[in-house]
Amino acid sequence: MKILVINSGSSSIKFQLLDMVDESVLASGLVERIGETEGLVKCTFRPGGEDELVVKKTTTVPDHKSGMQIAVELLSDPRQGVIVNRSDIYAVGHRVVHGGEDFHKPTLISGDVLAAIEKNIPLAPLHNPANLDGIRVAQELFAGVPQVAIFDTAFHQTIPPHAYHYAIPYELYEQQRVRRYGFHGTSHKFVASECAGLIGKPLAELNLISIHLGNGCSMTAIKNGESVDTTLGLTPLEGLVMGTRSGDVDPAIHAFLARNCNMDIDAINEMLNKESGLKGLCGLNDMRDIHDAIASGNKRAKLALDVQTYRNKKYVGAFMAVLGRVDAIIFTAGIGENDAVVREMTLRGLEPFGIAMDLEVNNQRIKKPTLLSTPESRVQIWGIPTNEELAIAREAKAVLGK
Ligand code: ADP
Repeated sequence: MKILVINSGSSSIKFQLLDMVDESVLASGLVERIGETEGLVKCTFRPGGEDELVVKKTTTVPDHKSGMQIAVELLSDPRQGVIVNRSDIYAVGHRVVHGGEDFHKPTLISGDVLAAIEKNIPLAPLHNPANLDGIRVAQELFAGVPQVAIFDTAFHQTIPPHAYHYAIPYELYEQQRVRRYGFHGTSHKFVASECAGLIGKPLAELNLISIHLGNGCSMTAIKNGESVDTTLGLTPLEGLVMGTRSGDVDPAIHAFLARNCNMDIDAINEMLNKESGLKGLCGLNDMRDIHDAIASGNKRAKLALDVQTYRNKKYVGAFMAVLGRVDAIIFTAGIGENDAVVREMTLRGLEPFGIAMDLEVNNQRIKKPTLLSTPESRVQIWGIPTNEELAIAREAKAVLGK
């Protein structure tokens, strides 16, 4: 049972082909720089296997349609045998960033679903159009194959009104749907489910704090298996300090910058999304570079690390208050899985709250789910690799009742 997962971004398409009989990855790839003079295509067949094969090429990729065509051609190479004919594909699972209030769960794509994703474009003007492109092209290339949309926002649709409303005029919610939505839902749900399996209890009985730290960062409070609060808001800018995104700022910063720095609203938005976060503080947005800079005495790099981990800790405290009892805290994504220092600094000093990390065990890159707390710790601490492609493929399979 082969499922193709498509994550179509504004200038790139990530794809993965999985055999859902044993959840093995048959091929995984990326088409980048769509629309630029030279596009990059990379596909790895049977990643991690003895017969792994990496195919790379540069070619013009004028648009998403040609990007998808190139990906499907690569996957259909008879020498690789991963797609023998198109009807081999049981389903295509699409990551869709913003489902607004329309989608609470993964959904089989129909004309109405496409219209609703389109309606939500104002909420995600960069992402939803690219996601729609990916869906339309896949519908053409795989006519008759079920297409399933998996929304970044869906897992957070259980957040109650007192947590999703901003305290601004209510009409803005009624007319424009201005509220907190949250993102990274597929990842939070995936690691929460994995964690439940590891603890050996049903997810519906667990209270968890899931911390996704990658380029984008977010934290979710999960009560009895459901998201009850999360740090990202109307857009993926609120909350934690990210690679280039500021996270929380005083909202009056916009007015201040407009008045005093002669910046217009687009420039401020661009600055908060692309020139802020770790990069804004020290010029570097990759945590590996920040550690190197700290080692050579760069004080601003140390400040960036301090600001990010302090913000993480502040939200852990907030979500402990939200949840009351916390069974486990989970770290995941690029920084969460690989950076022992960030994990340690995020939870340092929380021992009085029953959170005690085993610093020796923590001192590693997490390649498989690993318990990072001491046996005495009341709250378990887990490092769990996220796998959004597998999560999407599982969701697509579940929607189709398999
Ligand atoms: P995305 O949000 O784009 O999916 P990832 O989850 O892949 O991002 O995380 C990317 C980030 O993870 C990088 O920018 C880097 O800061 C961090 N990272 C990756 N590998 C390491 C490592 N070995 N040590 C520390 N940080 C790492």
